[in-house]
Amino acid sequence: MDYQKIIEDIYNKVQEFADMGKQADYIPALAKVNPNQIGVCLKTLDGKRYTCGKSDVRFSIQSISKVFSLAMALSSVKKELWTRMGKEPSGTAFNSLVQLELENGIPRNPFINAGAIVVADVLLSNLPNPEEDFISFVRCISKSQTVNYNFSVARSERSQGYLNAAIANLLKYHNNIENDIEHVLQFYFLMCSIEMNCEELSDAFLCFADHTKEFNYQNVHLTASQVKRINAIMQTCGFYDESGEFSYLVGLPGKSGVGGGIASICPKNYAVTVFSPRLNEKGNSVVGMKFLELLTTETKESIF
Ligand code: GLN
Repeated sequence: MDYQKIIEDIYNKVQEFADMGKQADYIPALAKVNPNQIGVCLKTLDGKRYTCGKSDVRFSIQSISKVFSLAMALSSVKKELWTRMGKEPSGTAFNSLVQLELENGIPRNPFINAGAIVVADVLLSNLPNPEEDFISFVRCISKSQTVNYNFSVARSERSQGYLNAAIANLLKYHNNIENDIEHVLQFYFLMCSIEMNCEELSDAFLCFADHTKEFNYQNVHLTASQVKRINAIMQTCGFYDESGEFSYLVGLPGKSGVGGGIASICPKNYAVTVFSPRLNEKGNSVVGMKFLELLTTETKESIF
């Protein structure tokens, strides 16, 4: 498969969508990002690398970090995690409160904010040095020692983070948060603030691309079956209330973030990341979704 030619052709085709959508501005620091950028990187399990556009520009990974925090939490507490959250698609926005109230403080899944805030609480309770341990795990899987948090983005998000604070309070009311709420929120925002480029994210997702092998990176150990299940949750819940649409259009497991990144996996084959900050109304990158739809159409490689 000539992935380089394929991604270059698609890169040209998606230019027609390049001014659609709007970057996230509810996080003040993200409103300053140049919205007119597109980066792509595809890496295969057999060690090949294909890039296009701004594949080396770092951006805020935001909710893509929820895959890494879930992996760490599952490795620490295993099945117990599923007593504190579900693994069903929510059908609601990533920051919705309504369902959480109706369902007594048990988030639908770890990839909506409520679930990821509980995951942050689990990590705070179980890791010896949560901030250091988390970033060091992400550096290890992304093969890049310079990947880091952006503390000013985290602070900027906290300054306006009223909805996430409401979610954390509701969780605490239902005894689904053990630690101090402010501490949990700060750690959650910090994980979201990590900056990576498409190449680093593709390396990190490649670690999840072979669900027949155990996952052993630093202090995170997952069985092959757990890796398969993380992929399953990406497939069903990775795009909030657009997860069905992504599955329909693209047919791969993946995870998006409001920084404009989408990382996706073709199991047993490759990981691909697309970055483009303009989002649709569901909070997913317009060009990212279109790019991946064309990629699986062109290559006829998807899980279906
Ligand atoms: N930090 C963002 C938030 O909590 C993450 C959301 C996202 O990427 N969808 O709102």
